[in-house]
Amino acid sequence: MGRYTLTCFLLCLVLVLGMTFVLSAHQAIPGEEEFIAVVLGSGGGPREDDVSGFMVWPGGKPEEAIFFDPGVLTVGIRKADEMGNLWDFQVPPEEDMTREGFILQNARAYLISHAHLDHISAMVINSPDDSPKAIMGTPTTLKNLQEHVFNWKIWPNFGDAGPEPHLGQYSYIELVNDTACSIPETSMTVEALELAHDYPGTSTAFLVEHQGNYILLCGDTGPDEVEGTDHLYRLWQRITPLIQEGSLRGIFLEISYTSDRPDDLLFGHLTPHWMMVELRRLAEMVDPDNPEEALEGLRVVVTHIKPKFVHSPSTRHTVEKELLQLNDLGIHFIIPYQGHRLEF
Ligand SMILES: [Zn+2]
Ligand SMILES: [Zn+2]
Repeated sequence: MGRYTLTCFLLCLVLVLGMTFVLSAHQAIPGEEEFIAVVLGSGGGPREDDVSGFMVWPGGKPEEAIFFDPGVLTVGIRKADEMGNLWDFQVPPEEDMTREGFILQNARAYLISHAHLDHISAMVINSPDDSPKAIMGTPTTLKNLQEHVFNWKIWPNFGDAGPEPHLGQYSYIELVNDTACSIPETSMTVEALELAHDYPGTSTAFLVEHQGNYILLCGDTGPDEVEGTDHLYRLWQRITPLIQEGSLRGIFLEISYTSDRPDDLLFGHLTPHWMMVELRRLAEMVDPDNPEEALEGLRVVVTHIKPKFVHSPSTRHTVEKELLQLNDLGIHFIIPYQGHRLEF
């Protein structure tokens, strides 16, 4: 090897190592994504075709896909498919099935943060043509589904508990707070943590793990200061070591309103202002000596923006602008549209 070739080789090595280091902090290396998420629904109502809905699977394992808060399912699957964002799902040629039907039926489980309609409606509407799946949530969420939804009055009982007879298509799995539980037929585990959504303990954050890497999926939540709880503080405590070791790949967190919304009208939701108040608390916990840089590059997916029935400005546009102004932590905010594919 000549001196010139050796220099080139060393330079390349330094470049590659440098790139790996830069990417490893909070971003996925192409081809080595730990998690893929497809946004089936990006909003928080009104407008029934784009309320909450997410499909998540470990990189390279679409057969292990799960749904988080299925307020939207097939509408979002079709949209994402039209955008070319579900290319890794192959319908076997012998299956006489639409792609949306195949993708719906081949997912393994539902994670439900709370039983508000905008987080469950598509699961209910599609249930007659769904396949057997687990429904995972806290005892409160599952009780609400059993007593008030799958109860033979609002809808036939597709579950394995609640008013009889049980059709048994869905098996309820109760998540005990702060304890990891494996997600059936997948290589992922999930841990439930309480959130306050107008009342303490009425919503849930799911910490999903795959081979030592994590993604945090938060349901609706208000800020601790307004809710008078420490639920978000405890959630930040739980994920602080994961951010420090670089194993948290991303956070899904809601913003429903713009920052001019009065606190007494938040109804258990966040604004850009309150999102930044909470993330600054998290930054202080991750690195008290240097909080300004503690969350640099962390991917935060903004969910549940509530559209308004006016022409302009749209809530989304104002939220985007406010986050740009308020983001003094270098956070990588993502405000996705329905059908988008996100890689972590
Ligand atoms: Zn909601
Ligand atoms: Zn809600």
